[in-house]
Amino acid sequence: RERLKRGLARTREALGGRLSGLFGSHTQIDEALFEELETILLTADVGVQATEALLATLRARVKRDRLTDAAQLKAALIEAMTELLAPLEKPLEISTHKPFVIMMVGVNGAGKTTTIGKLAHWLQNQGKSVLFAAGDTFRAAAREQLLIWGERNNVTVIAQEKGDSAAVIFDAVQAAKARSIDVVLADTAGRLPTQLHLMEEIKKVKRVIAKAEPSAPHEILLVLDANTGQNALAQVKAFDDALGLTGLVVTKLDGTAKGGVLAAIAQSRPIPVRFIGVGETKQDLQPFRAREFVEALFE
Ligand code: GDP
Repeated sequence: RERLKRGLARTREALGGRLSGLFGSHTQIDEALFEELETILLTADVGVQATEALLATLRARVKRDRLTDAAQLKAALIEAMTELLAPLEKPLEISTHKPFVIMMVGVNGAGKTTTIGKLAHWLQNQGKSVLFAAGDTFRAAAREQLLIWGERNNVTVIAQEKGDSAAVIFDAVQAAKARSIDVVLADTAGRLPTQLHLMEEIKKVKRVIAKAEPSAPHEILLVLDANTGQNALAQVKAFDDALGLTGLVVTKLDGTAKGGVLAAIAQSRPIPVRFIGVGETKQDLQPFRAREFVEALFE
């Protein structure tokens, strides 16, 4: 919890801090208060649609419950925000298949490789065995980075000097079956939704994984850098249309004031946020919990 609050420090300032200031400086609920509230939400990247939805909910509550003072509105906002984010709270469930195959996708630098490292730590803490597939075959540095995470977490890494992503991950799934490993974490190269040939390539990777294990991949996680703000919505849409995402990981929430983007995602395409990244160490990955998240922002 403390780690979460620390990790969200900048969004807390942008959103929670400014809202506290707002509710501190107004005693009555009036139009001016709503206008300032709108500006603050937009500044924290909550997005136009989600902001409008939140304000509409608040206006309805003010009317229904005959709220008059600003402190009551703050409580109503916390509730409304929690309700908006609640559909994103669906924890990762890995006991359904063995090996459980998780494929990470996203743009370059979003935090795919780092998240794999952190996720391995999280899984191992639950007694699960893990195998890495170095499926980012475009950048040698990505493979090196994954090997380092493998060493750090005592995880075997399936990698090839040459060869394509699909082949490496196929091998890794076979190896996991042979060794009775619980979870395969497959890295893939970074790509932009506009790079259509690369979007086709990732679809192929998915198809090839199913050849190694018919029910796989069991989870396709889009890793999103929270700093991309509203652009994250376009990434979610494009990757979901191409692959059928099962979840999101929102990284670098610690370095940004744009944590409100989760509300925008909830409003536009509520794909479960399996985890949030709030720092660079292996402990800095947390399952997303709506209430905890909102409370960390406002308390
Ligand atoms: P990839 O290209 O998607 O595999 O991205 P990387 O995993 O290489 O991450 C890019 C950079 O972001 C690295 O310097 C990571 O340490 C950093 N990073 C990843 N996740 C987080 C996070 O949650 N917080 C912070 N502060 N940095 C992160």
